[in-house]
Amino acid sequence: MHIAIDGPSGAGKSTIAKALAQRLGLTYLDTGAMYRAVGLKALRLGLDLRDAAALEGMLKGTTLRVERGENGLDQRLFLDGEEISAAIRSSEVTWAATVVSTLLPVRAWLVSMQREIAKGQDIVMDGRDIGTKVLPDADFKFFLTADDAIRAARRHLELRQKGENIALETVLTELRRRDLQDSTRAESPLTLAKDATVVDSGDLSIDEVVELLLALMGKA
Ligand code: C5P
Repeated sequence: MHIAIDGPSGAGKSTIAKALAQRLGLTYLDTGAMYRAVGLKALRLGLDLRDAAALEGMLKGTTLRVERGENGLDQRLFLDGEEISAAIRSSEVTWAATVVSTLLPVRAWLVSMQREIAKGQDIVMDGRDIGTKVLPDADFKFFLTADDAIRAARRHLELRQKGENIALETVLTELRRRDLQDSTRAESPLTLAKDATVVDSGDLSIDEVVELLLALMGKA
């Protein structure tokens, strides 16, 4: 079984996807983390993040490995052998991921890796182009969304809990900037797949969203 979960930043995709994977005994793949890994390496090398040829060259000498954590759910990511699961969560890397994800060679490299991972196993993947590009034949496709003020407030709370002192306004501005870049890029922009079900998580708790998706799949 293949399940695709797409939607804008901060809609709760990874939390929901992970919970679904746990309930249904599926593998979970966070594809955003893979774009972050590419962004991190490009930043470290000081490359121009919009230079497709430079990024393409960089990827020729890059290895990216995805492993499951101890609990079988958390994803661990290794870039050229170094674990970078935590390093990819900074705001600098977040924006770098958004920029490099506009480049065709980057997308081609990661999409083929993602399809390879999905081959022959039951999986739930979250991202921006899973239902439209990576797994167009997925058994179930969901587009998870919420009002941007709600998404920003959730992200703000998460960052505060991690000890980051950032203004809500800044979080909202950055989120809107990412939404705009992701939905207007030429290559696989964030769009609703024809056969995806839209779920607005704005007024729902995580558990409620998970139950709703399970019900929509006939697995409640
Ligand atoms: O999901 P996350 O916020 O970690 O993704 C980081 C960035 O990676 C997104 O802003 C988007 O630009 C890019 N991305 C993408 N396609 C995916 C997953 C993420 O373009 N399938």
